[in-house]
Amino acid sequence: MIICFENRRHYLNTKYIIVAGGVISGVGKGVATASIGKILKEYGFRTTAIKIDPYINVDAGTLRPTEHGEVWVTDDGGEIDQDLGNYERFLGETISKINNITTGQIYNSVIKQEREGKFLGKTVQFIPHIPNEILERIKVASSNYDFALVEIGGTIGDYENIPFLFAAKSLERQIGKENVVYILITYLPIPSHINEMKTKPTQQAIKSLSEHGIFPDIILCRAKEPLDDVRKKKIEVYANIQREFIISAPDIPTLYKIPLNFEKEKLGKKILKKFGIKKRKKACFKHWEELVENIEHPRKSVKVAMVGKYLDIGDYSLHDVYISIKEALIHAGANLGVGVETEWINSKTLEKNEHNINKLSSYDGIIIPGGFGETGIEGKIAAIKFAREQRIPLLGLCLGLQLAVIEFARNVCSLAGANSTEFNASTRYPVIDVLPTQKKLLENEQIGGTMRLGVYAALLKENSLTLSLYKKSERIDKDKESLKEMLGRKNERYRIGRTPIGKNTVLERHRHRYEVSPEFVHFLEDSGLKITGFHKRLDDINLIEFIEIEDHPFFIATQSHPEFKSFLEDPAPLFLGTIEACLKRKKKKKR
Ligand code: GLN
Repeated sequence: MIICFENRRHYLNTKYIIVAGGVISGVGKGVATASIGKILKEYGFRTTAIKIDPYINVDAGTLRPTEHGEVWVTDDGGEIDQDLGNYERFLGETISKINNITTGQIYNSVIKQEREGKFLGKTVQFIPHIPNEILERIKVASSNYDFALVEIGGTIGDYENIPFLFAAKSLERQIGKENVVYILITYLPIPSHINEMKTKPTQQAIKSLSEHGIFPDIILCRAKEPLDDVRKKKIEVYANIQREFIISAPDIPTLYKIPLNFEKEKLGKKILKKFGIKKRKKACFKHWEELVENIEHPRKSVKVAMVGKYLDIGDYSLHDVYISIKEALIHAGANLGVGVETEWINSKTLEKNEHNINKLSSYDGIIIPGGFGETGIEGKIAAIKFAREQRIPLLGLCLGLQLAVIEFARNVCSLAGANSTEFNASTRYPVIDVLPTQKKLLENEQIGGTMRLGVYAALLKENSLTLSLYKKSERIDKDKESLKEMLGRKNERYRIGRTPIGKNTVLERHRHRYEVSPEFVHFLEDSGLKITGFHKRLDDINLIEFIEIEDHPFFIATQSHPEFKSFLEDPAPLFLGTIEACLKRKKKKKR
């Protein structure tokens, strides 16, 4: 174990909720886990959630989005499964990368310890060393919490799950069954040719789980429809648990309603009953309910074009790649009472296609999300040019900022062929480039976990739209607190660098290798590009974090990913600004 043990002794007070899935994956185990977390937090308990990913990758950073959807980035620079995003969004707080455990991390660490002679000549074996390492990590991540939800990825019956289920059993032995509750999330299909909900796959999942010595305390039944009494009875008899602990979790239109539905089913109370404890405070979901109501019945609406690279698998296209942006738009919309309709536009269809580009004027706003590789890049640049010239609100995120700079360099500064060295290594005008430190990493093929990752401080400039949006929210004050804490942690000072910690410093998350080349900055500024935020590194190099175009209704781009710091009850300022600008455009068009 190489991570910090600082507060480990507290774990003995933690109660654990182990969440495992049966039947199929993709039934919303992560959101269910996050929703239970939200409820327990509302009851006054310090609650965290841990995601176990049984793959051999050390993290999700090197995974292609078609493999695993979006890569979630934590404050401390973890590149993780998107479920951690759900946990943060529902718990409304940041979660460390240590809350993600993969098989790769476990083996990496055990082998490292073996090489260092830490096992004192003993044979290092699957049992007990692998489950022990898992357990240690769970304990570290859950220290100081009243409740830790531990979601085991994949489906019961997968070979890969075995060590994690074994570790759960060991935890139970160590701390007593009274401190562990098992929740099984299953799926009940309704085959269309018989139109009847089937319980058999759930029965099989219960049987598989029991082979590991685990008997579920609660079964969450995901299905298209609510569970009827007949099915509940069948599961009750088969699993030998009382009916009140069989919870119906039918499909619903918005994820954010799930905690409310669980409350209706008294799931939180039932979990506490299993542990023999009482709520610490009366839960108040009023604000959350109002926001959910706004999502379900918005008073106004806007239509946003997300110009991305769509990664098709077979006949299906994966919008999951941009899930955090979609959620950030929903959060902003919910807070403004606006329904956001997001349309996905494959940027390749905009390349050299005037007709398709012109169609962008039917949208109230355009978003250029992050991305890697040259596919569809010219289409995105064409969309940015159109948004700039036609005065359509535009928000550029990470790659979106880099492409906005390229577009500006080409078409305003007349630097024909300006590009990023990611797409054209021999461009005459490398307005976007890797800095020398990154160049070295690339030359040595050190790819995993080496980008600029996690939160970095940025000072926002006075008289900018960006600053006014951050000022309208509570972000600046919140980030001030985080900055103070970071200053106290020596190993994180590089995240602040020499950025002045004045009253306008914000923290946003990053995941990129390329930057605006410092030598072009003056040139861009002289031609009218407004640099509205920068990060000053320890070596005094200024990195561009936010840009704007003045004399445009709304044209903002950031090198960061503000979508990773957006919560339903605390939306990201730039997304709020985007939706407000979309509303204005829509109103103006009507006139
Ligand atoms: N490909 C770009 C880079 O590595 C942008 C990355 C992103 O959008 N997350 O810098």
